[in-house]
Amino acid sequence: MYNLCGDIMEKSINLDTSVQYLKGVGPKMFELLNKLGIYTVKDLIEYYPRTYEDRTKVVKIDEFEKDKNVLFFGTVVKPVSVVYARKKKIISTVVTDDTGSLAFLTWYNQIYIKDRLKEGQTYLFFGKVSNIIGSRVNLESCSIYDVSQLEKIQGLYPIYSLTAGITQNYLFKIISELLEKNIMLTDIFSTEFRTKYGLVEKNYAVQNVHFPKSYNMVESARNRIIFEELFLFQLALFNMKENNLVETKTNIYKDLDDSEFRKIIPFELTNAQKRVVEQIKKDLSSNIVMNRLVQGDVGSGKTMVAAIAMYLAVKNGYQAAIMAPTTILANQHYNELSVYFEKLGMRAEIITSATTKRNKEKIVERLKNNEIDILIGTHSIIEDNIEFSNLGLVVTDEQHRFGVKQRMKLSTKGKVVDTLVMTATPIPRSLAIILYGDLDLSIIDELPPGRKPIDTCVVDDSYNQRVYNFLRKQIKEGRQVYVVCPLVEENEDLDLNSVESLYEEYKQEFSEYNVAILHGKMKNKEKDNIMQEFKENNINILISTTVIEVGISVPNATVMVIENADRFGLAALHQLRGRVGRGSSASYCILKSNNKSVIARQRLGIMKESNDGFLIARKDLELRGPGDFFGIRQSGMPEFKLANLLTDTKVLEKTQEAVKELIEKDKKLELPENIRIRNELYSKYGEQLTKIVG
Ligand code: ADP
Ligand code: MG
Repeated sequence: MYNLCGDIMEKSINLDTSVQYLKGVGPKMFELLNKLGIYTVKDLIEYYPRTYEDRTKVVKIDEFEKDKNVLFFGTVVKPVSVVYARKKKIISTVVTDDTGSLAFLTWYNQIYIKDRLKEGQTYLFFGKVSNIIGSRVNLESCSIYDVSQLEKIQGLYPIYSLTAGITQNYLFKIISELLEKNIMLTDIFSTEFRTKYGLVEKNYAVQNVHFPKSYNMVESARNRIIFEELFLFQLALFNMKENNLVETKTNIYKDLDDSEFRKIIPFELTNAQKRVVEQIKKDLSSNIVMNRLVQGDVGSGKTMVAAIAMYLAVKNGYQAAIMAPTTILANQHYNELSVYFEKLGMRAEIITSATTKRNKEKIVERLKNNEIDILIGTHSIIEDNIEFSNLGLVVTDEQHRFGVKQRMKLSTKGKVVDTLVMTATPIPRSLAIILYGDLDLSIIDELPPGRKPIDTCVVDDSYNQRVYNFLRKQIKEGRQVYVVCPLVEENEDLDLNSVESLYEEYKQEFSEYNVAILHGKMKNKEKDNIMQEFKENNINILISTTVIEVGISVPNATVMVIENADRFGLAALHQLRGRVGRGSSASYCILKSNNKSVIARQRLGIMKESNDGFLIARKDLELRGPGDFFGIRQSGMPEFKLANLLTDTKVLEKTQEAVKELIEKDKKLELPENIRIRNELYSKYGEQLTKIVG
């Protein structure tokens, strides 16, 4: 297919050009590429492989070994035949090389191969040796290349993350064609800088991350890109921190008396809560803007701490806002907190995606007129049309669900705003300092009294009946049950129980009870209704995806069953488990997994032994490496193309040093050799940095 438009456009391709103008990218492919986060030429260039296939050596047919991937020349010695068998078209031929050995090649349904291969011609093949029977060598579904392509093909073949409809070969083709066009990326580092830190040039690095000739080349190339990513990230953090440190404010709180609020809540704060409240009060009454991260295990009572801070804000004449990651959670905060605030004559409102346009308008109006003291909501509250008259404090709940940018956006809503962020993600302190380098850290390391550890066990499918019996017993005692399973769409090729089939299964098994389903595809209103019904104990068993992962509190729910538990990160499992054990009754967590691997068993074993989020996280790191540390759902970790904050610690140390040196010399990045660094920093993190760099 000749793409005229694409051809014309190609002449003027630059980094910002949309990939839809590339040859071979039609509307359908464009959409699929978008799914992978690829919109522009730059995105495509920076779509780095996740691993490589070794195609460095050309192998002779008589050297083939079973199950090995081989790159080889083969001359077609038999006309290509097509046989129809069981709805499949089987395409096959025989090739030979100068060793005289024969290789039997087979493909399925790829009928075009009949025309692709000509008898007597030699081609380059790559494929896996499926078996060797006597002298007969079989290969299936080999890739076919022209002999002239050897130079291009030979080396390490990049393996990219895919989505249905896009193949490795397709990405290989469009990326290699793109790189041949020599679109130059600017290298932000000077030659001197590169020499100093042992870095290869940027374009060379990009070329070699995609199409390396050896593993050594991959390493230096990847190292170069990781270095740049971490360097810029740390520079941005430094700037944010610097900015926060020096930023003075006028909203210095005079009235720090929260006794009235403490009197109306039905419990005494834990010592840890008290300590953190004191730290917050100190921030609020100082003339430096507060930027504080409160880390606390699930159920440690972070909401109350936030509520006290908001109460103080209003008492001192300011508006306060709290942003939660889901509508359900925002509702829960609203339901729990608005009661207290109202009792104290403070006006709280809620705004989520479920809020009607008319109501939203009203709220916007009242916010501007200072008729609302406390706004509770989802990220709806950072929409551009939301304006406050006198915003003084913003709280971000479950920070790990938001990106740095969203967090920053909220704090630009007021002139100079104090910020409190809450997270239950148990990241090690050392990492927290790097990740949240711009924040001061408070830790709630104590659970409210009376909490019993959640009794946890690990079972496989053979226990199904026993699990059912146990659930039945609990429900008879009036308790409620959560059943959670990972989402299917996110792992299309994994064989997981989908929520729906699980729902059917439970409905059948528990036909005498109310079983309900909750998942992300449902309308917010539906979700809220279900959650409300569950809270009111009108639902006995709630089958759901991880939408209930964060913050939900239903004290009467005492059992959590987690399907395919081995698919979750331990941190995520721990947070899920934290949905039970919120009341005074004994609570249980049943982790289901048929995965018999030693690591999987060990990991789930940790869950059984400990209820301490931080300990669990540390053990998880030790056991399975940091790759999956945060589980299926992504955390608020900054998005890097290649760097991994947890594994690339060596590079991180280097960049830390490099950033320090740079800053000592040229803090404002004004020297000519640092202009490119400054520009890149600005384009990557600009929104956050406008105050300093811009
Ligand atoms: P998280 O830290 O996970 O956000 P929450 O703030 O949702 O935890 O608190 C969990 C539950 O504990 C809530 O029902 C809350 O009312 C209750 N709670 C909070 N602080 C205390 C306390 N000091 N004593 C008893 N219960 C508390
Ligand atoms: Mg919470």
